[in-house]
Amino acid sequence: MDSYINSVDFFKGNKPEDIAAQYGTPLYVYNEDILRNCMRTVKNIITKYPYTANFSIKANSNLHIIKIAIEEGLNCDAVSINEAKILLHAGQSKEKIFFVPNNVSEEELQEAIDLGIMTALDSLDQLERYGKLNKGGRCAIRLNPGVGAGHHEKVITAGKNTKFAIVDSDLDEAIAIAKKYDLKIVGICQHVGSLFMDPTPFLQAVKNLLYMAKKFDNLEFIDFGGGYGVPYHKLADEQPFDFEGFSKKFEALLDEFISEVGYTPLFKTEPGRYVACESCVLLGRIHATKNNAGKKFAGSDIGMTTLVRPSLYDSHHDIEIIRDNEVVTPANSEVESITVTGNICESGDILCKDRELPVIKTGDLIAVLDAGAYGYSMCSEYNSRFKPAEVLITSNGDTKLIRRRQTLEDLLSLY
Ligand SMILES: *Cc1c(COP(=O)(O)O)cnc(C)c1O
Repeated sequence: MDSYINSVDFFKGNKPEDIAAQYGTPLYVYNEDILRNCMRTVKNIITKYPYTANFSIKANSNLHIIKIAIEEGLNCDAVSINEAKILLHAGQSKEKIFFVPNNVSEEELQEAIDLGIMTALDSLDQLERYGKLNKGGRCAIRLNPGVGAGHHEKVITAGKNTKFAIVDSDLDEAIAIAKKYDLKIVGICQHVGSLFMDPTPFLQAVKNLLYMAKKFDNLEFIDFGGGYGVPYHKLADEQPFDFEGFSKKFEALLDEFISEVGYTPLFKTEPGRYVACESCVLLGRIHATKNNAGKKFAGSDIGMTTLVRPSLYDSHHDIEIIRDNEVVTPANSEVESITVTGNICESGDILCKDRELPVIKTGDLIAVLDAGAYGYSMCSEYNSRFKPAEVLITSNGDTKLIRRRQTLEDLLSLY
């Protein structure tokens, strides 16, 4: 496609330059309709059996976005006690929060116990600690189904070579530890990794986890984790994840399990990226263009502190150029090979390398697509840059500031 922004009318009639003038750049801009649609998609992955979609808020923990998730009836996942507290603050009920931490202190485990939040233990050691703290209590354990999936080695969280979860061969010992403390393991979970477009490894992991589930009788829930991918190469017509086909195969595995064990637990998945990713574009301004010894660069105000994924994972984000409020596309402009960078003093501060893009001019706006997941939530203050602001384009077309930009006072407030 030529332009995602145009194809979905992303700004809902608002002029990008007006938004930039009002709120400044860099700016995370969310579209409420797209966000709610993605939430509804994950909420309905399984319809035949009791099922909840737990929004994994590490992908995006903006309070307003969490509140929309709550309105849409999603449960939520927290990977730190702070995320659990942010969820409670946003109005999520404690029964709908699942805490899936790793390597946490006794104090953090105790806080979760005091808050009454279901916790998944990620190692025998942590299970033992939890047992001592919460004798006779209830918990879940995170299991490694033996297969991983994901877009980068750094985001594959199961299979061999990962710090996460309890392996199959330790399962009996986990059950013994729980017994020692009269702990009831009421749920099991897994998370195989992030961003798969081919569901085969995930479905294999589902199979494996269901196999492990047979070690228990009457689990209250089985949670299969997140990782559903989004097409980051939409401008090259990459197709979305096929939820319809996936759900059929997923349900077939659940059918088989239920008929074998004779009971129906609550099933869960934990999407983070899929929920928030496509609803957001990151707006930035080009402040310089240059030709360094034959190599063309465009320098923007979107540094690796604002969006770290390209620097950290070599991730691809499509970029659209906006000039005079119109999207400049390969169809209406010359293209050239260019490297788009940020404003951080690091040579790895790169948004895209040698990419064929419409000719970029100083003063243009750029829109980095699919920025809603692991975007703002991975921002930093390196180079003493402010974390950016976030704006929501509401369903009725208004723009609403949903998090203000940091200020110098914020940076100085810790002293
Ligand atoms: C990060 C994470 C998720 C969400 O992964 P996505 O790829 O964003 O869907 C789910 N479960 C756990 C335990 C996680 O750590």
